[in-house]
Amino acid sequence: MRKTQMKPDIVLTTKIFPPTQATLEQEFACHRLYEAADRSAFLKQLAPQVRALATFGAAGADAKLMDALPKLELISNFGVGVDAIDLEAAKKRGIIVTNTPDVLNGCVADTAIALTLNVMRKFPQSEAYLRAGYWATRGDYEKTTSLGGKTMGVLGLGRIGEAIAGRALAFGMKIRYHNRKKKGAAYPYDGDPAALARNSDVLMIATPGGAGTKALVGAKVLDALGPKGFVVNIARGSVVDEPVLLDYLRRGRIAGAGLDVFANEPNISSEFFALDNAVILPHVGSATNETRGAMGDLQVENLRLHFAGKPVRTRVV
Ligand code: NAP
Repeated sequence: MRKTQMKPDIVLTTKIFPPTQATLEQEFACHRLYEAADRSAFLKQLAPQVRALATFGAAGADAKLMDALPKLELISNFGVGVDAIDLEAAKKRGIIVTNTPDVLNGCVADTAIALTLNVMRKFPQSEAYLRAGYWATRGDYEKTTSLGGKTMGVLGLGRIGEAIAGRALAFGMKIRYHNRKKKGAAYPYDGDPAALARNSDVLMIATPGGAGTKALVGAKVLDALGPKGFVVNIARGSVVDEPVLLDYLRRGRIAGAGLDVFANEPNISSEFFALDNAVILPHVGSATNETRGAMGDLQVENLRLHFAGKPVRTRVV
């Protein structure tokens, strides 16, 4: 008689995009950590058999969770940003970490351009003006700032940064960039974030989050950007010194900010709601059905490959 194949056990740290979660539930014996009343008892019971974990966003995976699952071999992340996963702890324990790069570049770059257009042209504010009935009673909406001819400084010209730069060129913008390592890009390079800001009209933040970029954009960089400069952040809230950014927006020390990411998501500082020069989105950079589907396919593929004894496709460490 043929032995029935047991589904491999995996732990889910949080809810994932529903079609992806449905696939995971079908192919693996999924254990929902986020529903456990007693996390440590839940993990203790699973410790002998769990070799993989699927995670997403801020749920990440810390060293304590890795220690609670000593048989863990793989952490498969839904998303390219792995700042909520303790990569050093994973490396030390020989745990493979995977992410979902490239498949989301287009949508995140679209979001970056939408924020640039909206913060410079004030389209959301002008629509609110129209809806409030002011066009007829107060006259035309105020004049705003063109994109064409302006310089976008990309802080973090990686996969997503390149996609943003390509789109910005189509809007007639010029591109410059700063990475820690100068690359063979066709764009002028600035040696530090403040120099990039000084040479830019729009500072586009597209670095990873985490300790290496914490508060990289603070008073020094915003001073260099100046009162006519705009900041757009599609990276992580942690890359910006948020209290300083709020202060600079309130006092008009920069012209405006377009933000998809914040320090404390989803409970963002309510001070943003009162600012007319901030355009804010609830971390929707990659949030289309198509892109989330492609991210999920990659997350599942990495799990499948690993359990088939093959190398994963998109390894981070
Ligand atoms: P990537 O290809 O690794 O690009 C990151 C770039 O940032 C690299 O060019 C890197 O160059 C540069 N960088 C890293 N640390 C830096 C530092 N301290 N100073 C200056 N530049 C630095 O990553 P990606 O795929 O484009 O993704 C970038 C990030 O976007 C993700 O990590 C994630 O946090 C964010 N993201 C956000 C959303 C959203 O929904 N809003 C969606 C997807 C991704 P060097 O190594 O030479 O410095």
